[in-house]
Amino acid sequence: MKIEVVEKNDIVLRIIVRDADVPLMNALRRIALAEVPCMAIDEVVMIENSSILQDEIIAHRLGLTPLKTDLDSYNTPEECSCQSEFGCSQCRVTLTLDSEAKEGTRTVYSGELVSENPEIVPVSDKIPIIKLVKGQKLKLEAYARLGRGQTHAKWQPVCVSAYKYYPKITTPTKECPECTKCVDICPKKVLEIKGNKVDVRDLLACNLCMDCVEACPQKPAPLKVEWEKDSFVMNIESTGALPPERVLQEATKILGKQLKEFEEQIKVEKQK
Ligand SMILES: [Zn+2]
Repeated sequence: MKIEVVEKNDIVLRIIVRDADVPLMNALRRIALAEVPCMAIDEVVMIENSSILQDEIIAHRLGLTPLKTDLDSYNTPEECSCQSEFGCSQCRVTLTLDSEAKEGTRTVYSGELVSENPEIVPVSDKIPIIKLVKGQKLKLEAYARLGRGQTHAKWQPVCVSAYKYYPKITTPTKECPECTKCVDICPKKVLEIKGNKVDVRDLLACNLCMDCVEACPQKPAPLKVEWEKDSFVMNIESTGALPPERVLQEATKILGKQLKEFEEQIKVEKQK
C-alpha cells in the first residue's frame, strides 16, 4: 500500500491511498467517525441559571462544544482503574463557568469556560453559548470525559471522514473547437481549455458525476471519466479535538486491536 499526502494542516488531512480496497477504506472511515475517542462535556451541574434557556438546552450546547483532547493522559471511564461513577483525575476534567450580564445584554462565549486542565479547553473561544440580558446570571460546573461517536455525536473527533475512488480522466486527443460544454458544466471546475484542447485542471476535485461526459454533443464522447479500482482519495476533517493524522492513526490502531481480538476468539473456538 502506498500513501501520498496531498494536503495537511491542523484541521484537514487529504491523502491518496494506492493498492487498497473498499472494505479497508470503509472500515477506517467508520472507525474514525464512530470509535476514535475524544473529549466532550457529559454532565453539567447548574448552580445558578436565571437566563431564559432551560438547563437542558445549555447542557446540550456545552456538550456539542468541541474540546481539545489529550488521548495520552486520559482514560475512557469504562477503562479507567477508578471505576467510580464520579470519575477521577485520569478520566474526568472539570470546567466551570461563571457569567453575569452586569452592564447590558451580552453573549457568553466558550472562551469563558475555565478548565482545571489548560490543555483541555474549547477548540475555539468564539462559540456562543447563551445570550444574557442585564441582571441574568449563569453559573455552572461541567464535567468532560472521553467517549465515542457511536454513543453520541458530540464525541465524534471529525466532521468529515470520507473517501472516493481516484479519478482517471482521458481528455480528447483531437482539438475540440466546436463547444466548451464539458468545461462549463463541471461544478468543480475540473476541466479547462488549453489552446483549443480540453485539459484537466484539478483532477482530485472530480467526484465522478459524469456531467461532462453527458454534456458532450458527440456520441460516444471522446472525453472519458473513469476511476482506478484500487486507489482512493481520503478526506479527514477534524473538529479540532485531535489533529487529523492522529485520528487516522488511532483508527488503524483500533482496527488492529479488533482484528487481534477476532483472531484470538477463533483460536479459542478451534481448541474447544
Ligand atoms: Zn477514573
